[in-house]
Amino acid sequence: MTSTLETIYALLIDAEYQLELFGDLPSFSRRGTGFLACCPFHRDSWPTLIVAGDRPEYFCYACSARGDWLDFLMARYGLDFDQAVERLARAAGCSPAGLVEENAWRAERDRAVMLEAFMEACMAALWSEEGQEALHWLVSRGYATREIRGMGLGFFPGHEEWAAPSACGISLPTSTGAAMARGNEETLPGVLIPYRDASGRLMGLVCRELSGTGEGMPARDPYRAVATWDDMDRTPFLLHRCRGAAETLVVEGFFDTLLVDQVRLIPVVGIGRGGDAVRMLDKAVLFGCRSFTLVPGASREGLARAAETARAMAEGGLDVHVMELPKGYGDLDEFIRKTCLDRFGALLKGRKRAGEWLERVGPHVSGTTPRQRGGH
Ligand SMILES: [Zn+2]
Repeated sequence: MTSTLETIYALLIDAEYQLELFGDLPSFSRRGTGFLACCPFHRDSWPTLIVAGDRPEYFCYACSARGDWLDFLMARYGLDFDQAVERLARAAGCSPAGLVEENAWRAERDRAVMLEAFMEACMAALWSEEGQEALHWLVSRGYATREIRGMGLGFFPGHEEWAAPSACGISLPTSTGAAMARGNEETLPGVLIPYRDASGRLMGLVCRELSGTGEGMPARDPYRAVATWDDMDRTPFLLHRCRGAAETLVVEGFFDTLLVDQVRLIPVVGIGRGGDAVRMLDKAVLFGCRSFTLVPGASREGLARAAETARAMAEGGLDVHVMELPKGYGDLDEFIRKTCLDRFGALLKGRKRAGEWLERVGPHVSGTTPRQRGGH
């Protein structure tokens, strides 16, 4: 189930409700992607309240007031929880009755705030000595410094180091441990990827381990969920960046998604290899995405997955196209890094309707015949 608060927040962020909620504070102004204003919770004439532009949160760096918009309404106007919810729901045009349960909200809010604090520490760590190896790995993959910063990545010290936080230089509220404990299994040091819900709240973390399997050890997926939430397997990666998009690119892989997002030619979501792509794209539709273009990986498995997804989506009445990579490129990430943006744009223009693509490729990827693809 989509949390209704997630929906309310997403609608309000799209309407820039920050202007309504914080706009009357002294010195309110736009700063970067968010806003800055004088904090109403301590006496000060300097603007110290940071209001996020892409998620429903605020933070005062002078008095540490921090929370989401429900917190703000309750703390500033003395509303109770139900009144605060009703106010936001009405502003979003939703029916407020029984939409949000207070304990569930509190748990989600605490989680988002703590993970945000943890992510900030990990982002700082990536650019410090301890994150050197992770940063080097990213640079060696071909990403520019500007892209790495834009992706908002961090350095995860690994669960072993994490058990002794002082050793890795990251100090955190003790309650963060509880939020982290929901991740699955032991994770080695690596690049930390923030995974947000549709309203931009940080609800999950994924680590791309640096040292995968040693010799003679069984193969291991280098991507580990360090922190997960109930709706993660239903939420496309970066959905918060493309709500309401007329056309959305659908790719596999976190770094493919992050890179295309940085390139900014077209909104993009990631669906992962193991996840239920159709369920994820159903959620994207709920949040206003209208048409999708799948980018199949070059492997036989990648093609088969894309064919299956394209079929299911077309059956569900969605508008689906397929964009094929030219021969010789393993994935979109590699294509973008090795060619220029004009070629990416041309590739995008040449996308085919899913039905047409399936007719040509479908029979070859579902059977046991060797892979056959149309070249560009
Ligand atoms: Zn303050």
